[in-house]
Amino acid sequence: MSLRARRVDALTAAQRQKWAAARVWTARQAPYLASAVLALEPIVIEQDPPSHDLRAFPADPAWHIYLDPAALDTAAVPELGFWLLHQVTHLLRHHADRRPGEDPARWNLAGDAEINDDLRTDNLRLPDRAVTPAGLGLPDAWTAEQYWDALDGTPPPADRVDCGTGADGIPRDWNCGLPGLSETGRKLLRREVARRIREHHRGRGDVPAGWQRWADEALDPVVNWRQVLRSAVRRGVADIAGRVDFTYRRPSRRAAAMPEIIQPGLRQPLPVVAVVVDTSGSMSDSMLAQVLGEVDGLLKSLGVARNRLHVVCCDAQAHTAQRVFSAREVRLLGGGGTDMGAGLSAAAELKPRPDLVIVLTDGHTPWPAGPPRRAKVVVGLLDPAGSAPGWAASVAIDPAEVVSGR
Ligand SMILES: [Zn+2]
Repeated sequence: MSLRARRVDALTAAQRQKWAAARVWTARQAPYLASAVLALEPIVIEQDPPSHDLRAFPADPAWHIYLDPAALDTAAVPELGFWLLHQVTHLLRHHADRRPGEDPARWNLAGDAEINDDLRTDNLRLPDRAVTPAGLGLPDAWTAEQYWDALDGTPPPADRVDCGTGADGIPRDWNCGLPGLSETGRKLLRREVARRIREHHRGRGDVPAGWQRWADEALDPVVNWRQVLRSAVRRGVADIAGRVDFTYRRPSRRAAAMPEIIQPGLRQPLPVVAVVVDTSGSMSDSMLAQVLGEVDGLLKSLGVARNRLHVVCCDAQAHTAQRVFSAREVRLLGGGGTDMGAGLSAAAELKPRPDLVIVLTDGHTPWPAGPPRRAKVVVGLLDPAGSAPGWAASVAIDPAEVVSGR
């Protein structure tokens, strides 16, 4: 079995013509996405024998799109064009970074549902097998995360397509590994597409609502930190809840009846969460209260029970580790210098030991070399000039936006 990546000139003249025609077709269907489609770098994948199904023309986050000559031969121009629009949408909407849990097939389906209702316009008919919210029995206009939740326990359809690393962030055999579009290039491209969506909307008005919302978010310098924090925390909780394992730590009930045999208990651990709050002088109480309120609501909605949440207040040293009923009830202690390392160490020593530590800080603090053992760390950063360590997921929270309540 061989897999060979080649440049687009490895295609026959007829295949190259179809590729070019599909790009023209997309520019007519969704002119505001034309610069994104043009940014895709085609990589031809020759498979002998054909071992991977590339009929969705998968992409990767560096903006390579993988063309299987056999798939090119069978797709009509509008179908190939549809897949180009579909794959650039996975990339523009950062689906590779947003996956909330371990199940890539479920996330691919959720992302496809989010995408396709925004591609269906008066003049664009979706290919018959394209995933739609209606086809899944769900409403239009949800986010991929909402579809993900709703699809819990639904087996993936038998003929599902694979949209590649660009849809779920997981490497594929056929990825070429070339550098592709730079990080800066991707940012500029997003802004350019967002600008064109606004222009197009002003001029003709036929931009699907999902794209208008996306453009507003892309052009608005204020990050929707609630959403970002939510997905970072959800991801941490999902990873932990997914660690179902047989453990000898706690014997099963049956073992008590048969004390001579040690039986493993099937354990689905509920995550224990600690919130480390920076109470050094630079953080205002009202701001902290707002962010804590948000975190509290978020954890509740994710099913983290009250007795599994601890709050550590920390300035230059960690203060009381409080077992609280609500993050809002935390007495905000401290007010001196800052060392979040002390807060993280205190969190690591809590019993039971937390699986997920959420740190709320302005980031003007030294950080330890690594996270506490076996814990995931999410840093909510309340000052763009502060810094979060590379080993934590970090979420920028704009203090002005917190206070204005946007
Ligand atoms: Zn897809």
